[in-house]
Amino acid sequence: MKTFDAVVIGAGVIGMSIAYHLSLAGIKRVAVVEKEKFPCMGSTAYCTGGIRHQFSSPTNVALTKMSLPYFKNFERAMDYPVYFTHRGYLFVSADSGRLEQFEKNLAVLRDFEIPAEFLEPAELARRYPYVRTEDLVGGTICPLDGYADPYGVTMGYFKQARKRGVEVFLREEVIAINISGNELKGLVTSAGKISCPVVVNATGPHLPEVGRLAGLEIPALPFRRQVYVCSPLEGIPGHAPLVVDMDTGFYMHTEKSGTMILGGTDRDSFPGTSTAVDWSLLDGFIESAVRRIPRLQDAQLVRAYVGIRSLTPDYLGIIGEHPDLKGFFIAGGFAGNGFMHAPAIGLIASQLIAEGRCGLLDVGPLSPARLYGEKESNVF
Ligand SMILES: Cc1cc2nc3c(=O)[nH]c(=O)nc-3n(C[C@H](O)[C@H](O)[C@H](O)COP(=O)(O)OP(=O)(O)OC[C@H]3O[C@@H](n4cnc5c(N)ncnc54)[C@H](O)[C@@H]3O)c2cc1C
Repeated sequence: MKTFDAVVIGAGVIGMSIAYHLSLAGIKRVAVVEKEKFPCMGSTAYCTGGIRHQFSSPTNVALTKMSLPYFKNFERAMDYPVYFTHRGYLFVSADSGRLEQFEKNLAVLRDFEIPAEFLEPAELARRYPYVRTEDLVGGTICPLDGYADPYGVTMGYFKQARKRGVEVFLREEVIAINISGNELKGLVTSAGKISCPVVVNATGPHLPEVGRLAGLEIPALPFRRQVYVCSPLEGIPGHAPLVVDMDTGFYMHTEKSGTMILGGTDRDSFPGTSTAVDWSLLDGFIESAVRRIPRLQDAQLVRAYVGIRSLTPDYLGIIGEHPDLKGFFIAGGFAGNGFMHAPAIGLIASQLIAEGRCGLLDVGPLSPARLYGEKESNVF
């Protein structure tokens, strides 16, 4: 039987960040167990790569603020090529009822000394001529928001974690968890038994399934997100901010090449894990997209795909030890923020495991034990 001090289940961006940070925190024998043939084949493979500070929850803002320096220095520190750019997120709305929320979001950012501003429709039209602004009440932009390459970041952590002695077992599925009393003893994979006092469930949309192996219900449900990829269009620059219409959820992300990643109009969907494209959603998507960015009526749809996001009832992620099972940690449920917060999640989880506490921020709102707390409402 193999023996480790800590085993991370899942080699997505969160699992690999945690494994890397555990090795930095002085945990000697660390392993990652991944059911797929390669790392980065789960949600992280479908991730847009956006990084934003504009949240209503101070905890989420703190997680981005903690993570941003890692993205900026990633290539040099991790010796792995990663594209990173500041390009801003632009949130807009035609609903005057949202003005108060915009102001609240900006107040949270001011507390963190993060530059962001409210723009009147005329200024929006001047700066972003491709956005239809006649009906808008305004919008907010944070120039520090940006984009990084999710595959590069995951593989950078993978490379450095292995260099530091972390063992990564691919094509091994965790099929059982061994418990004695209320203490974790190890796990069983498709390749055999592993003895370990600490396990981190970092399985993205599979958090509940793996929780059930330990007899625990984890309140993070998988939701489908359908994404439309379109060819570059004249008039929509490659450096455009990530535009979000808060009224419909529609977003437009433009890649360096000009290729557009569009979606967000399925935020009212039911939980599900099917990755089959639902073409019945196309009409509603086109309507929302063209209403906000008329130029998109000429867009050429190249393909569509579905990725799965893991959502908790209060839209905040989960990091910490389960209150009913000693040694069983959870890191996930981060909705559309798991990539941008992965550096902070790795740091926090490794501190909690190595030192039993976290001095970086108040992790109460993220704790698995929470029954109530702050709620993220800046969701799209
Ligand atoms: C379309 C889309 C766009 C997104 N855009 C953004 C964005 O712009 N910015 C952002 O920050 N976030 C974004 N996200 C969210 C982000 O992708 C996720 O929060 C993040 O990738 C989660 O990482 P993870 O490591 O927890 O999960 P995953 O990447 O899903 O990794 C979990 C791993 O666990 C493995 N696993 C599962 N069960 C087992 C088992 N029993 N045994 C062994 N291994 C197992 C899986 O195979 C998988 O590799 C987006 C998500 C989607 C779907």
